[in-house]
Amino acid sequence: MPIRPRPFTYRCDECGWSATVAPVSDALGPNDIHHRCGNCGNPALQRGTPSRLQALIATLKRDLGGRPPGM
Ligand SMILES: [Zn+2]
Repeated sequence: MPIRPRPFTYRCDECGWSATVAPVSDALGPNDIHHRCGNCGNPALQRGTPSRLQALIATLKRDLGGRPPGM
């Protein structure tokens, strides 16, 4: 049984933007990688541990195929 990596959070120190991703496997997909801040474009993003709620939301999004419910 493959081990799923833990979700992690990208954070921008410039503006406070953050994004949490929950990779499906050890191989990160295009949706799992952020090279720049989604708000201000800062390329120096920090990678850190998400809060429990952020991790839960990211995991649910992944398990739903990245689509919001009802679509
Ligand atoms: Zn930013």
